[in-house]
This record gives sequence, C-alpha cells and structure tokens, in this order.
Amino acid sequence: MDEPESILVITPHPDDSESAAGGTIAKWCAEGKKVTLVVCTNGDKGTSDRSVDPAELAATREKETLEAARVYGLAGVEFLRFPDQGLEDTDEFRERLVWQIRTHKPDLLLCIDPERKYIRHRDHYVSGRVALDAAFPYSRDHLAYPEHLKQGVDTHKVEEIWLFRPQEPDTYIDVTDHFETRQNALHSHFSQVGPRDPERDDRSRQRLAETGKEIGVPLAESFKRIEMFR
Ligand SMILES: [Zn+2]
Repeated sequence: MDEPESILVITPHPDDSESAAGGTIAKWCAEGKKVTLVVCTNGDKGTSDRSVDPAELAATREKETLEAARVYGLAGVEFLRFPDQGLEDTDEFRERLVWQIRTHKPDLLLCIDPERKYIRHRDHYVSGRVALDAAFPYSRDHLAYPEHLKQGVDTHKVEEIWLFRPQEPDTYIDVTDHFETRQNALHSHFSQVGPRDPERDDRSRQRLAETGKEIGVPLAESFKRIEMFR
C-alpha cells in the first residue's frame, strides 16, 4: 500500500500504546501523519496503592493521556471509558469501535495482538479481538450497525492492520530518532511509571536495541502486519 496518512490506535489501557508502540507513534506524528488514539478503558484499577480512589485515578489517567497526546502531537483522543478489567466481547463494545473506525476512516489501524499466549490481560486480548472484528467485516458492511449511516457516518475499509506486542512479529520500525519523544510520552503516565529516571531509560533503550538488531538499526519496535482487501 501507499504510505498511510491516517492512523487509528486502539489501546486497552491509557499507557499500553506508549510502552509498546510509542516510538512508532512519535515517528508517524513527526512525519505529519494524522494519528488518533482510542482509549478503551478508564484504567481505574491501575494502582497498587490502597489509598487511591478509583474515580480520581480514572480522571488522573485521562489528564496523563492528554499530556502524552500533546507530547506526540496526536490529532485527537477518544475516551470510551469502559471500566478497567471490564472489557468483554459485547455488541456494545464492537459497535463503539466500529463507530470510531467509520468516523476517523484510518488507512492503518493499530491495535494489540489478541493471540499472546497464557499470561495476558483480559482487557488486552478482548480489545485486540474486538478491534479486528470491528475492522472486518463490521466497519465495511452497510448492514452492520445501519444506524451509523442514518447519522451520516458511512462504511469504511481499513487497508492495513498492525498489531502491537505481537506474538509473531514481522514488521520492524526504526525509532532511533524518536526515543526521547517516546520516553516523554510514556512518562506522561506518571501514575503508572513514576518520575523519569536514567535506569529506566536504559532498560527501555536496551529493549528497543534488542529489537533493532532485527533490522540493523540502533532502536526499533516490532509489529505484526495484516494487509486487507488485496
Ligand atoms: Zn494494559
């Protein structure tokens, strides 16, 4: 396909896209692509601190996500506000993702790989599976959620889907020039990662460097790529 100009990122929790694909998102934004983030859950169980109020945590995490969006230069953020650890493969969730895809009409959809084995977060694999179903066939077919069309939102064919945290990676993106932005976006999620510190930066750099070896660049992120409608 041609270079994607419009990208929709579907993340289960507010910080998953940063930790798994932040360098690539930063690169796309730096290249002037239109990148929109859909955050499925409000992340209100994302703490081990028993004094934290879940509603306050959810509000904090929205502010942190908007800060990450500012760091990248995202086109926008959509909060679906499902409860943390509450995603299920329901008609309601699918319809809301179809609405996002039909509204934003991305060339490329980025979501989490639902096929990760054994130890995996339920919100992660459910969001990945429902995002794939939403892209195909539901967003494409006019008889799926026909109320969208009545509201002026037409069908859409996604050309390409990339999976982050892939079980079987086949696509590598050089993010060497975007490490700093990635780290800044990730550390916008202060409630999750705390203050920026050099040791953590080193660990992140080492992880991206391991992936970088796959394509002979200093730092890279990996994905599974699915081409649609060829
Ligand atoms: Zn998560």
